Amino acid sequence: MGGTTGAGRPAAFFDLDGTLLSVNSGRLWLDRERRHGRVSALQTARAVGFLVGYHFGVVDIVDAMRQALQTIQGEREETLREWTRVWFESEVVPRHEAPGARPAVEAHRARGHALVLLTSSSPYESELATRYFGLDGFRCTRYELGPDGRFTGDLVLPLCYGEGKVHHAEAYAADHGLDLDRSYFYTDSNTDLPMLRRVPHPRVVKPDIRLRWEARRRGWPILDWSRADEPVLLARG
Ligand SMILES: [Mg+2]
Repeated sequence: MGGTTGAGRPAAFFDLDGTLLSVNSGRLWLDRERRHGRVSALQTARAVGFLVGYHFGVVDIVDAMRQALQTIQGEREETLREWTRVWFESEVVPRHEAPGARPAVEAHRARGHALVLLTSSSPYESELATRYFGLDGFRCTRYELGPDGRFTGDLVLPLCYGEGKVHHAEAYAADHGLDLDRSYFYTDSNTDLPMLRRVPHPRVVKPDIRLRWEARRRGWPILDWSRADEPVLLARG
């Protein structure tokens, strides 16, 4: 796989849901929407079905996310940013921070690596998670805004998902002078295989069954960040 890399410094890329966080925060957001009466129980059940399918990469993710975005169509960006902040600070962290995440982040920081969140979640959650974990920046999925500053209900493509994560990581690396060919990527999900294959130091965190199998087959390190004392595996150099 080619790429736009040069002699920049290495980066450590981190997935968010199920990796830095011990939960899928998309599911926590759905709970919140339902409590606020914005999503019916039936819609929630369907959305949870999407989340499960999404995790295993078996649904049309663009369709599923467009459907989910109907709940915020016509809202102002600032409104969603504020809702997300209140929710993130009261329901997501620190309760659902994966115990092994911070030691790994700090080990990479100590080595001078760039620290980058690479997630399919929203820019609003990504900003908060980036600040919370003390990362340098993020790439994520973005929601289209109309000229009136309100969400159109559509997505900006490519999503930061599957192959799209490679696209976003390469764009971030080009913008910040980073070298993907010396970089790390941490994730829990089989849908992230393209990005795991893109870097020389893939790290699989509490993986789903298919990713566990793939990691064993390829000899990739498997970590368990539900433990705070999980060793951090940094390459020499
Ligand atoms: Mg994940």
